[in-house]
Amino acid sequence: MQHIVIIGNGIAGVTAARHIRKKSDKNITIISSESKYFFSRTALMYVYMGHMRFEDIQPYENHFWQKNRIDLIEDYVENVDFESKTLKLAQTPPIHYDKLILATGSKPNKFGWKGQDYHGVQGLYSKKDLDLMEMNTRGIKEAVLVGGGLIGVEMAEMLLSRGIDVKFLIREATFWGNALPKEDSHFVTQHLRKHHGLTLMFEEELDEIIPDESKRAKAIKTKSGKTIPCQFVGLAAGVSPNVDFLKKSALELDRGILVEQDLSTNQKDVYAIGDCAQFRKTINDRGPLEQVWYTGRMMGETVAQTICGNHLEYKPGHWFNSAKFFDLEYQTYGRVWAKPKEHESRFVWKNDEKEVLLHFVFDKETNVFIGVNTFGLRLRHELFDQWLNEKRSIQYVLQNLKSANFDPEFYTSFEKEIVEAFNQEFDDSIEVSSKKWWRKLLNQ
Ligand SMILES: Cc1cc2nc3c(=O)[nH]c(=O)nc-3n(C[C@H](O)[C@H](O)[C@H](O)COP(=O)(O)OP(=O)(O)OC[C@H]3O[C@@H](n4cnc5c(N)ncnc54)[C@H](O)[C@@H]3O)c2cc1C
Repeated sequence: MQHIVIIGNGIAGVTAARHIRKKSDKNITIISSESKYFFSRTALMYVYMGHMRFEDIQPYENHFWQKNRIDLIEDYVENVDFESKTLKLAQTPPIHYDKLILATGSKPNKFGWKGQDYHGVQGLYSKKDLDLMEMNTRGIKEAVLVGGGLIGVEMAEMLLSRGIDVKFLIREATFWGNALPKEDSHFVTQHLRKHHGLTLMFEEELDEIIPDESKRAKAIKTKSGKTIPCQFVGLAAGVSPNVDFLKKSALELDRGILVEQDLSTNQKDVYAIGDCAQFRKTINDRGPLEQVWYTGRMMGETVAQTICGNHLEYKPGHWFNSAKFFDLEYQTYGRVWAKPKEHESRFVWKNDEKEVLLHFVFDKETNVFIGVNTFGLRLRHELFDQWLNEKRSIQYVLQNLKSANFDPEFYTSFEKEIVEAFNQEFDDSIEVSSKKWWRKLLNQ
């Protein structure tokens, strides 16, 4: 019987294992050094904030794995010999594979800051990081966070929930400026500024961490020369693929493990999925690295099909993502680049009182809808995916937005205003859907 070995028990590796089991009788082993059982990395923050226990973020009962004949090994893979198809582990005897799936995830970036290894300085990625953060923040009053992205916002929310004052150093002039257009970024900034205890410091960079006599952080210095007292420094300057242990092997790497569209690597019978995979050729307008939860799951499903004899390519469709900035919900469908492309027009509508912003992108010439960012309003994924597939116009999208809305009442009250704002800005004459509906009735 073929032996399928998976390194990594995150969403990508575990999805691959589950789907291989559904379709075959192959022997399956998952190896991870982080934890024996799979847990939801995206929910780590809720454990710290006391909303859930760690057991609650493990989606499967412990007996699930044995029942499904998926062997679990809690150990670290030191290296892979692709010739002999053997893995060398830190504590367990070597393991032979017939097919290998690398699902090794990411690690937090550290940019060689002076003092980055002192006590009280850490990133947030793993279960170990969560435990460390629990220890590092016990009884403290002040923290500094470095890097203005999604994990930074989560860390800020976690720290504020314990009454710890947070100074958030953001290198750019706007919040999450490499991903969000400036209007959206300002909107998020306004929302974050409402949170007592959180100070956003734009265009500030960490220079060095200053220790006390026990080598614990007691302050940081910024590149502009400010000294900020703190007992905790959260490093949230992005993540990169966790591939260091593969660097001396014959596996072809760039930032991540280079894969074809079917997720195969340059080594026979070896695949890479999830955060650690880097596509040689990007798919549509997606990036070469996809470091989000649902793409890990999709890659896991895809590779399972191939391993079970139904060769498949990874076809993720249109880009989408969602996140939360404290209680402000964010969704994106299609592509909304931080800086508009030459052929794009943009239409932004916001209501500060209700904390809602919609940012539409469409083609200047053809009016074809390209993407939307929404804040404070949840829209239906399947409809946006359909409209993007059907290459619908911006006018069509605005007229039918009500059907994509989870809160039709909100949209009923603002539809007229949104459509009128669009007509005024683009000298257009689209009508609100309710009017169209009324006319249809009259004409019947
Ligand atoms: C705090 C936080 C919040 C997030 N929130 C969101 C969110 O809201 N939405 C979203 O879409 N995404 C979110 N993400 C990103 C998302 O969690 C990741 O994209 C996803 O978990 C990656 O899954 P993966 O299976 O590729 O890798 P991972 O989950 O990283 O799993 C890889 C595993 O492999 C193990 N491993 C690596 N190398 C070895 C080795 N040599 N030997 C043994 N074991 C090894 C690692 O220890 C790890 O356990 C968040 C990430 C973090 C850190």
